[in-house]
Amino acid sequence: MSHLFPRHTKANNPTIEHGAGVYLYDTNGKKYFDGSGGAAVSCLGHSDPDVTQAIKDQVDQVAFAHTGFFTSKPAEALADKLIEHAPAGIERVYLVSGGSEAVEAALKLARQYFIEIGEPQRHKVIARRQSYHGNTLGALATGGNLWRREPFSPLMIETSHISPCYEYRDRKENETAFEYGQRVANELEEEILRVGPQDVMAFFAEPVVGATSGALAPVEGYFKRIREICDKYGILLMLDEVMCGMGRTGTLFACEQEDISPDLITIAKGLGAGYQPIGAMLCAGKIYDAIENGSGFFQHGHTYIGHPTASAAALAVITKLTDGGLVERCRKMGEKLQAALKRELGQHPHIGDIRGRGLFIGIEVVEDRETKKPFAPSKSINKALKKATFEAGLACYPMGGTIDGVNGDHILLAPPFIMEDEHIDEIIAKLKIAIEEVL
Ligand code: PMP
Repeated sequence: MSHLFPRHTKANNPTIEHGAGVYLYDTNGKKYFDGSGGAAVSCLGHSDPDVTQAIKDQVDQVAFAHTGFFTSKPAEALADKLIEHAPAGIERVYLVSGGSEAVEAALKLARQYFIEIGEPQRHKVIARRQSYHGNTLGALATGGNLWRREPFSPLMIETSHISPCYEYRDRKENETAFEYGQRVANELEEEILRVGPQDVMAFFAEPVVGATSGALAPVEGYFKRIREICDKYGILLMLDEVMCGMGRTGTLFACEQEDISPDLITIAKGLGAGYQPIGAMLCAGKIYDAIENGSGFFQHGHTYIGHPTASAAALAVITKLTDGGLVERCRKMGEKLQAALKRELGQHPHIGDIRGRGLFIGIEVVEDRETKKPFAPSKSINKALKKATFEAGLACYPMGGTIDGVNGDHILLAPPFIMEDEHIDEIIAKLKIAIEEVL
């Protein structure tokens, strides 16, 4: 009997043996195309020699040294590399071990910033429904997934939620995409006025929504309007790029495509590409300076911040993404894959929408294509799709049904950026088998 928690054992998951390129192999020799990089993690695939070598080299030097005593070359170099490519105004990097930790750090930094600048009453966060920001208590409170939140709600910080930018479901017939985006962005202003502008600390959103809604990209102008509203009321704009960042949408930071600069950005997943657990919180110079010139110390920390081995791995990853041209490759491959999916599956009576950016693609499944009516959550279509795709040898990330009964089930594709043209056919063939069986 295994002593691991049921998540790993109850579903009778196969035991992973090894990975090579875009494929994973279990101990029975079965081969799976890694169609979602786990949860949009494995952007480089599974046997990258450069990242592996960087880890080995660092472990040979020193695997770990506590930041209470030392800084390290890989952590310093990683921060420099991130800032070299970050949106304007973003100047500092805080390295943690994953996405939820990055979100907690961002929330606490935002709070401390307002204390330092003499606005200690600001503590409320506004986020969006159908979002996911992590499973620790602060992150869970900001997320909008009702099922995940419900049991823990008494433990949570005060957060309110506005509509996501979900054109497929919410745009009215008489609205242009731009008008729709302005309308939903303006909900932020209404919510700020409702809860009291003087108390609001931050607005928090995923630029392209991942786990809860399947690669939901904003319409043009939406985030520009959000930025304007945040500025009008002196509120920080925090963007969660844990899933959509690190090249996944075809630019290193997803928000580059919105032509805005946030105040705080969280990243993880693709940063370590699965080779090491690592995340980061990036912040604007003005936030860092307020602390540096104030109390002088960010009142936060974890044992593994700035972990040298994790940093060495991430430095090798980001070097491949940027200097190695893999972000650009992701953008081009994503366009091809999305076009092929639309061509081959776009007219299926139960496929409502195919969307996304780069190699971050969502397929929304519906009971009725005309009315966009989702399948009843009790049908657990997403679970059936996960099982059927997995059996067909495609690991992908179906979600939905339990979010809040609004959106349908969906499949999230986030394959490694190193995938080749021939893999497009493989993904589609395997999806077709599963869709035929389940739908
Ligand atoms: N934010 C987003 C947007 C995510 O998708 C996730 C993970 N799915 C997290 C935060 C939490 O990251 P982690 O699981 O590494 O704590």
